[in-house]
Formats: sequence, structure tokens, C-alpha cells
Amino acid sequence: MTQKPHQYLLQEKIEQTAHIKAFAKECGFSLVGIAEAVPLEQEMVRFSEWLSKGFHAGLGYMERNQEKRYDVRNILPETRSVLVVAQNYYTPHQHLPPEHERYEEYGKISRYAWGDDYHDVIPPKLERIADEIKRLQAEAHTKVYTDTGAILEKQWAVRAGIGWQGKHSNIISREIGSWFFLGIILTTAEFLYDAPVQDFCGTCTACLEACPTGAIVQPHVVDANKCIPYWTIETKPEREFPPEVAQNLDSWLFGCDTCQDVCPWNRFQRDTDEAHFHARNAETALHLDSVLDLQQEEFSERFRKSPLKRSKMAGLKRNAEALKK
Ligand code: SF4
Ligand code: SF4
Repeated sequence: MTQKPHQYLLQEKIEQTAHIKAFAKECGFSLVGIAEAVPLEQEMVRFSEWLSKGFHAGLGYMERNQEKRYDVRNILPETRSVLVVAQNYYTPHQHLPPEHERYEEYGKISRYAWGDDYHDVIPPKLERIADEIKRLQAEAHTKVYTDTGAILEKQWAVRAGIGWQGKHSNIISREIGSWFFLGIILTTAEFLYDAPVQDFCGTCTACLEACPTGAIVQPHVVDANKCIPYWTIETKPEREFPPEVAQNLDSWLFGCDTCQDVCPWNRFQRDTDEAHFHARNAETALHLDSVLDLQQEEFSERFRKSPLKRSKMAGLKRNAEALKK
């Protein structure tokens, strides 16, 4: 069999890269980048330091599968490309509807949790892109992830040129700010690779100053032990909040957006086209007494396919009680 000339292969790769990026945008993703699948040497050094200081708090799963985090080829052998997409979830709703005059009776929900659970919304779109990759390169293998595996998603987003990791640790894009979810496709297919984006935080320290609990212990380093989303979403309902968190919840019932709300790059946010991320029942906050009155059947029905189900009803009630103290 005769081999295709080098120039022809390069042209084919250019066209396929442009095609798959355009296809990902057609699927509804705002940003698409591709990184070469190489071991994450520097990133793992920083991640290991963060773990060694105990900043992952009770998130024990972060200690496991380090070989997969280090090298995605330990997940999918012969992976050549890591395709990263950003799904915008910004909607024009406000944290508290204007008719709520007595804010103290309400608990705020983090913006990412206003709509349907992204774990349900994003994977089918990633699978469409994966199928398109296999249509372009018939022998290619793929594996998709949405916050579902031992992958350093943010670090891959940086490598793929989606944005830089801000001092609050979220990825920021100059085009759309930071209100987006990340999706990842590992593939054995080869594409052209993007360059990382420069860090544009500069001398800004708005997020460090605004964090209600001082959880951003140094630029780019968040201590989950102090971070409100860790306590209000990830901990078991029977865990009491430590006093420095309990006294500084700043009306957050589920998650916290303060560090992103103050980030100047979020002036560039755009409204999402994805209807699933609009606030369910127009709710961006919940009345604390109504949370405390919830019955299990109502909770299960009302928050089916909502990220709020993660804290379980007992966790949401624990959060509401902490806000009423
Ligand atoms: S999410 Fe809230 S608590 Fe956590 S670092 Fe950001 S501002 Fe601080
Ligand atoms: S608030 Fe300022 S320092 Fe923090 S992530 Fe945004 S630009 Fe960077």
C-alpha cells in the first residue's frame, strides 16, 4: 500500500481539526481547544503539593488514580489528543428575584445549579462529537468525561487554550468569562494542537478579598476546608460546619459564586443558548422555611435531575438551619 505524502497528511489534519471544532460549536459549545496527550509533569507537582497540605479536605477520591491524572494514556491507551469544550451556563437571572424584599429569609443557590444537572445535559453532546471523530478517522477510539473521572480537567483546559486558571482556581476565558462547564474527549485520533493562553489576572486580587471565608489561601490555591461549596454540597448531612464557615455563609444555601461574581472578566459573559441551564421554576434562591418544611417525596420530585439533589434533603436542611442561626 502506498503512503500518503506528508503534505497531504498535514492538509488533511488541518481540515479535520477545523471540522471537528466547528462541529463542537454546532453542538452548542462556546469554546473548543485540543491539547496533545502528554504526561502532566508540572501540573502533577502542584496537584500533589495541594493534596499534601490537605486542601482537598474530605474529597478522598482525589488521592486515588494518580497515574491516570498524570497520564491519560493510563485511561485510554494510545490517546493522542485531549479535546476540551466549554459549555456556557450563564443566564440573565439574578441571584435573588427582585420581589424578595427580605433577603435574609432566603438562601442563594450557586448559578451552576439553577438549571438541570450538567452531568445529564453535556455527555450526549460529547458523544455526538466522539461519533464525528470516529467518522473522520475510522480506527479512532474515544472516551468522554464531564467531571466524572480521574482527569485534571482544568489543567487540560489550560493546555488546550480554553483559558487560564484564575486566582480563584476556575478557568477564565477572555471571550466568555468563567461561567462554563468543561467537557473532555480523549481520543487516539490526531489533530493540530492549540497553545495555552496567557494568565490575564495581572495585579487583580478581587476574588481573594471577596471570599467570605478566606478560602483562597494564596493566588490559585483554594483550601476546600474553608470553601462554602465543599461544606454545603460535598459533606454528609450530619457534619456540622466549622464556626469560621458557619458564621460567614453570606446567604449561600448551596454552593457559592462570590469569587466569580466579583471577577472583572465576567463582564464578558454571554447568555447561554442551552435552555436546560435556565433556572428551574425561575428559582435562584430558596425560602429557608420552605426548605426546612420539605418532605422526602416532594424533595425527590422537585429536584429530580437538578444538581441540588447531590446534597440530599438532609444536607439542604442542615444548610438552611445554619443560615437561620
Ligand atoms: S467558592 Fe466561595 S468560599 Fe469558595 S473560594 Fe470562591 S468565594 Fe471563597
Ligand atoms: S477576580 Fe481578579 S484575581 Fe480573581 S480570578 Fe478574576 S481576574 Fe483573577
